[in-house]
Amino acid sequence: MRIVSTWSFGLRANEAAWQKVIEPSPGSTPALDAVEAACAYADAAADIDSVGYGGLPDATGRVSLDGCVMLSPARCGSVAGLRRHLHPVSVARRVMERTAHVMLVGPDADLFANQQGMGEAELLSPEARATYEKWLREGGVVDQSRDASLAPGLGFDPLRPIDRRHGSDGRLFGGGELPPDEAQWRHHDTIGCLAIDGTGVLAGGCSTSGTPFKVPGRVGDSPIIGHGLYVDPAVGAATATGTGELIMGICGAFLAVECMRRGASPLDAAREAVARIASTYPLESHHQAAFLVMARDGSFASASLRPGYRTSVRDASGARAVEPEFVAIPDPSVTGPTA
Ligand code: ASP
Repeated sequence: MRIVSTWSFGLRANEAAWQKVIEPSPGSTPALDAVEAACAYADAAADIDSVGYGGLPDATGRVSLDGCVMLSPARCGSVAGLRRHLHPVSVARRVMERTAHVMLVGPDADLFANQQGMGEAELLSPEARATYEKWLREGGVVDQSRDASLAPGLGFDPLRPIDRRHGSDGRLFGGGELPPDEAQWRHHDTIGCLAIDGTGVLAGGCSTSGTPFKVPGRVGDSPIIGHGLYVDPAVGAATATGTGELIMGICGAFLAVECMRRGASPLDAAREAVARIASTYPLESHHQAAFLVMARDGSFASASLRPGYRTSVRDASGARAVEPEFVAIPDPSVTGPTA
């Protein structure tokens, strides 16, 4: 029995989910309940500002949430662009369990959640609003865009760091100090969660508010099956976090699982995915990506493009945050294309 989640804040999310794995209710699928619970924890935590409530809004000041859940190619669900419901993975689970479809998007995804009796919620926290207003005051540069016209009259500097700290001291994650190398990637803190339960069932969930100040309508890798998450019970599972546009171009999570299908270990699969990103794109200093991979026996590994990523683990030996076993570009000063 094991739950693994992206980033250090995953420690708290894993803990919230652990009971679902070790004390399952009759007839439940504990691994599925666990990933839903872990993502729901992150959604509700206002201090995790790239997921759920507290997530930073798009360039118009409106939060939108994306997420997906997966047990197998035949059992997966996804939503993108929720603006009125807090828990994308829970809505995605309803899509998986109660419709013949895989993915719902936009206002109709919110409508579906309403029809399922799921309550509406305010998604923009006061802190996220304050950060958005500060961003506007500082010029309102659209994050990760390559087109100044997307922020008319506001200028453009794709390498400019975005201050998303709300003036806090970083004491937000795991009940302790966030390591400085991880703090720099706070704009990449999607939760991707993989769980294996006592019956060997593998499940995955992924929840995000996407990139901060994104172009309205933008959807990244996180809710797309095969990009932010992929689970094949015959092989294993993978989830991703980081710059969605890099992950989507290589079908990241699917790639990692396919590597395992051909015999790779979780580490070799995660390494292949980040190495593929490093060799495919002209990289910029704000680019980060990480893959968390679990084999069907519950063994796992992670790899990141740059330093600062951590995996949170919960199993019978307790809770811990572990460094990725492979970092493609260990030198943080390297920003150019890599071979
Ligand atoms: N992968 C997410 C997205 O692109 C964001 C992140 O993990 O930073 O929407």
